[in-house]
Amino acid sequence: MRIVLLGPPGAGKGTQAEILCDKFNIPHISTGNMLRDAIKAKTDLGNQAKELMDRGVLVPDKVIVKVVVDRLKEDDCQKGFLFDGFPRTIPQAKALDKVSVPIDIVVEIDVPDEVIIERMAGRRVHLNSGRNYHIKFNPPAIDNLDDVTGELLVQREDDKPGTVKERLEIYRSQTLPLIDFYVEKSQKKEVNYIRLDGTFLPEEVSERILKEIN
Ligand code: AMP
Repeated sequence: MRIVLLGPPGAGKGTQAEILCDKFNIPHISTGNMLRDAIKAKTDLGNQAKELMDRGVLVPDKVIVKVVVDRLKEDDCQKGFLFDGFPRTIPQAKALDKVSVPIDIVVEIDVPDEVIIERMAGRRVHLNSGRNYHIKFNPPAIDNLDDVTGELLVQREDDKPGTVKERLEIYRSQTLPLIDFYVEKSQKKEVNYIRLDGTFLPEEVSERILKEIN
């Protein structure tokens, strides 16, 4: 099973990705997580990506395509995978076609901008583990502290309100065209395209996705 999750930042792709990967026993390929790992490890890729990510703009297609193509060569991807945050532009999607990586299912999670802004403004993260919280929807036991280590939580630089607006604009201009790209492919029966309302509770969204996939 080869799945692409499409949707704006803050649509809940990460949460749905975990549920689906568990269910289908496939690896979760999140380019955002891979880049954050590279930043932590201070690799060349990380150093190159950090400033762009902090501003909320995209890493160049050529760079990200190489990261993904290398990742797909690993053994665990042979039985399928789930892309979360990739492809994010038409050239990235075309690059997959070029290296003959077909996609079975594209799941679009649709969430209006106001909901996204509220979700992202309240998001907090424990930097070392990547554990995510939300001050309203998923608060830690003690305000602003990680439940496991008791260390301080922070707001990701790219979750700050100005950057979120920039990311939404970039989503609209660069990633939204992918919807037409994949809908067209679904009309030619090259992929299955599923569109869902992402404003429901995460468990309800995943239930709907699984029902559609089955
Ligand atoms: P995410 O965690 O998926 O929201 O990604 C965080 C940031 O990583 C984005 O705002 C981009 O700067 C960068 N990024 C992640 N995936 C991609 C991609 N497929 N193409 C370009 N930049 C990406």
